[in-house]
Amino acid sequence: MEGKLGLVGYPIKHSLSPWIHQRFLENTETIGTYSILEVLENELEQMVQTIRKNSYKGFNVTLPYKQKIIPFLDELDPHAKEVGAVNTVLNRNGKLIGYNTDGIGYLRSLTNHYPAFVEDRQKNVLLLGAGGAARAIYYALNQSGFQFIDIANRTIEKAQSIADLKTPVSKTSVLTLSEAEKNLDKYDLIIQTTNVGMKPNEDEVPIRLEKLQENAIVSDIIYQPIWTKLLKEAKSRGASVHHGHSMLLYQAQYAFEIWFGRLPIITNMDIQLKQLLEG
Ligand code: NAP
Repeated sequence: MEGKLGLVGYPIKHSLSPWIHQRFLENTETIGTYSILEVLENELEQMVQTIRKNSYKGFNVTLPYKQKIIPFLDELDPHAKEVGAVNTVLNRNGKLIGYNTDGIGYLRSLTNHYPAFVEDRQKNVLLLGAGGAARAIYYALNQSGFQFIDIANRTIEKAQSIADLKTPVSKTSVLTLSEAEKNLDKYDLIIQTTNVGMKPNEDEVPIRLEKLQENAIVSDIIYQPIWTKLLKEAKSRGASVHHGHSMLLYQAQYAFEIWFGRLPIITNMDIQLKQLLEG
């Protein structure tokens, strides 16, 4: 067998990762399996040992262990080290190496849907939220050359800690959510990364969009529901939208590439996954 893979987290019984990676295995003609490895925190170290012993090719890590997994790994790639979280682990001849594919996955998904936008790195970007996903996205966008990325968050200190990341060139302002709301017309791309609007709280929005530019893109990384209230409002104001399931696919694609050095094609899967989530 070329690749034994899995997902470590809790709770993960309803995860979409097995669905995605099973298709990747098929469309790259790779022989392998992808299992759900649901563990409690006190079982995490034992699970890593089991994974080593059973010669897994690699595994994904999700909430709540993206940081807690780090002490059990042998090495981190520079991106995961700076972001401080791991969502993908490669077993290279018995050595477990941690990666973070969220930021690059996000950038790939944006590039796929809005190629012309991504070419102009002078665009003004607003990141809503300052959790793990925001940190990874900020770092990847900045590394790729976007300089003007402001961060708005409920807890200002967390936004500041992202602005303090070691990045090549950055002109970042840290804002409250209400300041972001008042200055929204400044931004070409708004990336929503908070939990606000996620099932079952689908009627909530992190900010109001009264001041949104008509030609802006509003991106929400939440994928349950696929149409968050924020995205519906953005569309009704004439803005372009970018859905969260796409980041899910592209971060998985990058993980697969780390494990096997092969790039699965995901064009049809984007539509299939959207339909699956729309029920
Ligand atoms: P996290 O580290 O827990 O961060 C959560 C963020 O949401 C923080 O900025 C937090 O603000 C904010 N927040 C939570 N409740 C809030 C409220 N009531 N009002 C205002 N802000 C609130 O989570 P994460 O890992 O970054 O994930 C965030 C979201 O992204 C989740 O919905 C997750 O499912 C989604 N996600 C999607 C993908 C994908 O592939 N599409 C990948 C990763 C994550 P404070 O700092 O003030 O607490």
